[in-house]
Amino acid sequence: MGNPVQALLSLQEIDRDLFRVNAELKRLPEDQARRQATLDNVKGVLEEKRTALRGNQVRIKELDDMITVQQQRIRKLENESNSNKDVTVVEACRYEIRGLRRQIEETEREQFSMMEDIERGKMEIDKIEERLKLELSNFEQFCQNVETEIADATKRQGDLQGKRAARLGKDVDANTLDLYDRLLAARGGEALARLDGGVCQCCYMQVPPNISVQLARSSKIIQCSSCDRIMYL
Ligand SMILES: [Zn+2]
Repeated sequence: MGNPVQALLSLQEIDRDLFRVNAELKRLPEDQARRQATLDNVKGVLEEKRTALRGNQVRIKELDDMITVQQQRIRKLENESNSNKDVTVVEACRYEIRGLRRQIEETEREQFSMMEDIERGKMEIDKIEERLKLELSNFEQFCQNVETEIADATKRQGDLQGKRAARLGKDVDANTLDLYDRLLAARGGEALARLDGGVCQCCYMQVPPNISVQLARSSKIIQCSSCDRIMYL
């Protein structure tokens, strides 16, 4: 049985890089998913604007039809008031005609404002489409890069895992290895800390003087009381 701390130091050399590669392999698809979500969001906004535009166009057409019916009614009332001798009937026709004309004016104002909305909407849609086109093209390039980077990182990961397996001898017992692995994950890929002048070189806290003595004398696993890392001299 060799020195477990020495064995862990030898592992740590590989695990530092392995930790970075693993982090990269986690980050790359996350970045991609985030960018995809942003693009989907823009597509959603675009679709909403198109739907609103179509809605306005349909509504304008409906208002056109309504105006046509009202104009037909006006013509009918004009004929009635021209041909009828009854003053009361003529007055009633004229009254209704005035009302209808007011309604038509209001409808036309509404249509005009909707047409302005449509024009604005069209310009916005054009802008978004242009931006989206550019972003989609960038994203395509990004995805290709991600694919290359993932392939590269996966290869490095495999190499490092192979090296790690080769170094993982019998010098470290299962409990110690488990502690080491947990520290690797919790402490950003650095599970060991060098003790220098009674100070942990990872968290820079002073440790009791007897720790140095213990480390020098035995191959016992001693952790920093502040950052928990496994100490070595
Ligand atoms: Zn420490």
